[in-house]
Amino acid sequence: VARPPRRPIRVLPPNVAARIAAGEVIERPASVVKELVENALDAGASRIRISVRGGGLHEIRVSDDGCGIPADELPLALQRHATSKLAEDDLERIETLGFRGEALPSIAAVAELTIASATSDAPVGRQLTVRGGRILADEPIAHPPGTTVTVRHLFEDLPARLAHVRNTRAEMAEIARVVQRLAIAAPHVRIALRIEDRVVLQTTGSGDRRVVLSELYGPTLASSLLPFGPLKIGDCSCSGFVSSPDLTRSSRRHLHVVVNGRWAQSRTVLALLEAAYQPLLPRGRHPVLVLVITADPAAVDVNIHPAKLEVRLRAERELGQAIAEEVRSLLARTPRRFTFLEA
Ligand code: ADP
Ligand code: MG
Repeated sequence: VARPPRRPIRVLPPNVAARIAAGEVIERPASVVKELVENALDAGASRIRISVRGGGLHEIRVSDDGCGIPADELPLALQRHATSKLAEDDLERIETLGFRGEALPSIAAVAELTIASATSDAPVGRQLTVRGGRILADEPIAHPPGTTVTVRHLFEDLPARLAHVRNTRAEMAEIARVVQRLAIAAPHVRIALRIEDRVVLQTTGSGDRRVVLSELYGPTLASSLLPFGPLKIGDCSCSGFVSSPDLTRSSRRHLHVVVNGRWAQSRTVLALLEAAYQPLLPRGRHPVLVLVITADPAAVDVNIHPAKLEVRLRAERELGQAIAEEVRSLLARTPRRFTFLEA
């Protein structure tokens, strides 16, 4: 995915900020991971390392080799509604994962945040540590081109929020799911997730989505998926992988939609696809789906959900119907072998 060249960070004019779907972006540790990895992807990173301790409450660290932040702009990165990503105040054409300038200040409001960054043309980088809106440290630092963000003591001062995330195992599982989604969205980026110093997930950045699926779900599942597309519907195109009815899952966690490089739900499209499978699957079972949709950014609305977990596409129903039709005929052509049920 070609990313536009980096622009300086600036504070959005109030009229633009007011139109941005506001809301609590940082609900749980996985939200921090999602926002930080998305920033790394927007920075054009080819390699992203994530490490997590204590369910994300003790420490989350995300390190990338992206474009970095010039030292003089680093404080701005922590300011509300300051972003380098929104050109011409244009919320109608969003080509980056972030655009609201909210993630870093929101994280800094509920944790201690250290950001170290350097650009390839600066001899040294800069590191800032903030907590509760106060700067605790600000110093020059040696850092390879790229950015490292470390978040500690998440929600420590917010007992109510903390009460919701007490189960460390559940948080770790959610973090792994979020990283899986991001890895599926960005097959060209090498991503590693360490939990308590153990590598739990790793992709090679091969650029091949089937390879990523194999790295995440194992070669048996990946090699049994049926490729489809590219399918052209108006100015959209869609390709991807779907499971044969022999391979089912007990949850919807293996339904992935990637729109212009962003993992997101498209309810309409997924509902139409699940309907295509429904006569073929046992009750309560779900397929494995990876739909990769490319659309004119002007035809995609990502500004409808604070965590950007849902997108709305122009002609979503037509698109969903066309994909479902294609998948139906693909399944009809595929001989059934055996049925196995698996978690
Ligand atoms: P947004 O991503 O919506 O712009 P953020 O609060 O997540 O808002 O980040 C604010 C700004 O800080 C970004 O616009 C970007 O310029 C800079 N930034 C944050 N993380 C990184 C990173 N990993 N690499 C380069 N720049 C970054
Ligand atoms: Mg961001």
